[in-house]
Amino acid sequence: MRLFRKMPLFVGLAVAASALSYGSSANAAACMKITLTGTQGGPPVFKGQAGAGTLVQYGDDSNKCGAIKLQFDAGRGTTQSLSSVGVPVGKLNAIFVTHMHSDHTEGLTELMQLRWHFGSGGPKVDFVVSEDAKSPRGHVLSGRNFAKHIGDALIKSGEMAQRLAENPKRLPGGPADLMNVMAFPKAPEPVVVWSSGDVKVSAINSRHIPGHSSYRVDTPAGSVVIGGDAGNDKPKPPRSSSTSQSVEKLALGADVIVHSTIHPVMGPDKDSGFPPPIYFRQSTATDLGAMAKRTGSKHLMLTHLIPPMGAPRQGPYKIPGGALTEASYTSAVNAGGFTGNVVVGTDLKTLQLP
Ligand SMILES: [Zn+2]
Repeated sequence: MRLFRKMPLFVGLAVAASALSYGSSANAAACMKITLTGTQGGPPVFKGQAGAGTLVQYGDDSNKCGAIKLQFDAGRGTTQSLSSVGVPVGKLNAIFVTHMHSDHTEGLTELMQLRWHFGSGGPKVDFVVSEDAKSPRGHVLSGRNFAKHIGDALIKSGEMAQRLAENPKRLPGGPADLMNVMAFPKAPEPVVVWSSGDVKVSAINSRHIPGHSSYRVDTPAGSVVIGGDAGNDKPKPPRSSSTSQSVEKLALGADVIVHSTIHPVMGPDKDSGFPPPIYFRQSTATDLGAMAKRTGSKHLMLTHLIPPMGAPRQGPYKIPGGALTEASYTSAVNAGGFTGNVVVGTDLKTLQLP
């Protein structure tokens, strides 16, 4: 297992609340599974694609690589995606959020409500997110508040009181009572934010909106980085790349990189009409390929695709040359010099290590 040279242990998190001792037979081979629970890029909808999210599982043959289950982001439809791969929401050990944008969080509400209905007896799920982050304009991005108020609409509508009257074994405060909030302070360098047995999760802040963080999971079976919507610290050219320096630091030597992606065809040098500031804050498929080559990664999983494959338009903007295909994305990555395995994300696509 590769570890970072400098990885201070974030106090108190060494043993996570829901860290379970998972039964693995002594000689069983360790394995890891990475599943894209949703690949839609941003708030639009397209052909039923689920919102952004990645499930990382670790274990061995005896438990189908699923002794530990970690969910990274939970856009709309995450609960359905998890059910499609046979993962009950009550079995998630921890949920990690990259940033407080609805396309990465709105699925959490239904996920936690379902867990409250049938899992009020516990265990709580660890909810790992950046500590409150203030923008230069004064507004605050708060994962803490998201968790605290996750059931508010159903509390205010009276549903919670009605359900509790039927079954007083449910937790009185609603789904918020089932979330163990583990907010980590500013992380300009990788810090361990969650661990259980052989599994360690590190985080680093990266640029997109205040509080945006990228994660890395290290296990004896391999390692994966979840970049989220990270972009370069310089918001626009001239710069050497659109990708994030922080993600690159986190991803050094990682086996797999999962990252949000924009296709270069949407750039201002083409005639899509797509707003340049939004284009520039995403990582392009070509620059991700170049980054994955530099980090020595074997697999690059593109997700949160802008535009989606097969889409005739990206919202109101045209796609120069017409709808994109899997080959359009793969060749854009290869143009960055990456010769490893490119996975162009579709919902439920899964990669297993080793
Ligand atoms: Zn997004």
